Amino acid sequence: MLNLILFGPPGSGKGTQAEKLIEKYSILHISTGDLFRYEMGSNTLLGLKAKEYMSRGQLVPDEVTIGMLKNKVNANPDAKGIIFDGFPRTIAQAVALDDFLAEKDTQVTALIALDVPEDEIVFRLLKRGKTSGRTDDNDETIIRNRIDVYKNETSPVFDYYAAHKKSRLISGMGSIDIIFERLVSVIDEMN
Ligand code: AMP
Repeated sequence: MLNLILFGPPGSGKGTQAEKLIEKYSILHISTGDLFRYEMGSNTLLGLKAKEYMSRGQLVPDEVTIGMLKNKVNANPDAKGIIFDGFPRTIAQAVALDDFLAEKDTQVTALIALDVPEDEIVFRLLKRGKTSGRTDDNDETIIRNRIDVYKNETSPVFDYYAAHKKSRLISGMGSIDIIFERLVSVIDEMN
């Protein structure tokens, strides 16, 4: 299986690139942010719980997030591979993912991080907020909070997979197609 973690701060272009990658590699795209937004839109208990955290730019607790992720993977037993987008965001989530994939006799192939400067991220998120309807993209204080959470809680996940020689950093600046080419060349080298 080709199991990719698409990594990087909010607004680095993970979702856009994931859409292109699933076409090329015929694999499943799992975005935990999208799953939470779907639950919120359906007013489920999980959605209500997630909303408390998302509206403040904080992480939803690990046990909730990991449970939801596992359900989604288990619901797609025929997937040839998976792009994890927005997951794992903590070391605990990374350890849980590794254990879960090991139970299925598979593993993370690579973590690829999109590198984008902070000012550019804020600019992109505020722009997206004008059309996405996402309240967490509309408010600069919440955006800065999400970036702080990324730096403090999420970026250590890069080092965690780097210790297993699985992490790669590529530039997330430039056109969508150029970034996609960079991703494909790293994936094809590591797969
Ligand atoms: P995203 O769409 O990836 O930017 O995620 C939007 C929000 O959903 C985040 O700010 C978190 O509140 C929540 N979220 C998404 N993925 C995770 C995760 N792996 N762990 C905890 N919270 C998450």
